[in-house]
Amino acid sequence: MIRRAMGEVDVKSAIRQTLAKIEEAHSKRVQTIKPSKPLLVAVSKTKPVELILDGYSAGQRDFGENYVQELIEKANDSKILQQCKEIRWHFIGHLQSNKINKIVNLPNLHMIQTVHNAKTAESLNKAWEKVMAGDPNKNKLNVLIQINTSGEDEKNGTEPADAVNLYRFVTEKCSHLNCHGIMTIGRFGHDYSTGPNPDFIELMKCHAEICSTFGKDSAELQVSMGMSDDYIQAIEMGSTIVRVGSSIFGARAKKPEA
Ligand SMILES: *Cc1c(COP(=O)(O)O)cnc(C)c1O
Repeated sequence: MIRRAMGEVDVKSAIRQTLAKIEEAHSKRVQTIKPSKPLLVAVSKTKPVELILDGYSAGQRDFGENYVQELIEKANDSKILQQCKEIRWHFIGHLQSNKINKIVNLPNLHMIQTVHNAKTAESLNKAWEKVMAGDPNKNKLNVLIQINTSGEDEKNGTEPADAVNLYRFVTEKCSHLNCHGIMTIGRFGHDYSTGPNPDFIELMKCHAEICSTFGKDSAELQVSMGMSDDYIQAIEMGSTIVRVGSSIFGARAKKPEA
């Protein structure tokens, strides 16, 4: 067996530490937000399969990737297929129409977190209809609606003002999708000494609006927000899914946006 070089990340202990911090933040969460234990999605983009195997052996089941080609390679990797039978892949990257057919056919695809407009939702719904027709054991495809809370041009997502409409479209017109909630990426590098993160405030507003429009209990609608730098603050504000990459797997080399 090859020993890991000094200074390389210890994914197992990083996952344990992250779960402990999630637990602590969850216990501090404001009382008005219904408790549901946040889900940790370990974001393994740019990282080798070996580190995913490490995370899996520590009990981690949910992994996130945001480059389609990389996700295809990892989801079909023979070691992952053999040793990680219960892995649940979350696609968290930009959902391009021409990549949808590749994504829906991936083994162990669990959720697409980045449905950002009606057209994409419709294509995804059609593609998943075919997958379900070919496999009677498949359930509806889990999705989240991505909202561009920061209004930055380079970020995808529907505008906050359209969140209710897109939610309505997906839940009423896309019968093969199961919409669990909403997600945002948000602006990077918020300075918490200036107050709470405006992206989190904005996403929680969308959450409240969708819940009140559709008469849903707040605990029924998932909120995916928070990454390595701010998942604790995100949980305190109501996040139920955190996507944590570098603080588990180590810093990433820069890679052009897919
Ligand atoms: C890369 C990425 C993350 C994880 O970011 P870290 O800062 O490494 O934790 C979370 N969400 C999305 C959409 C990402 O692309």
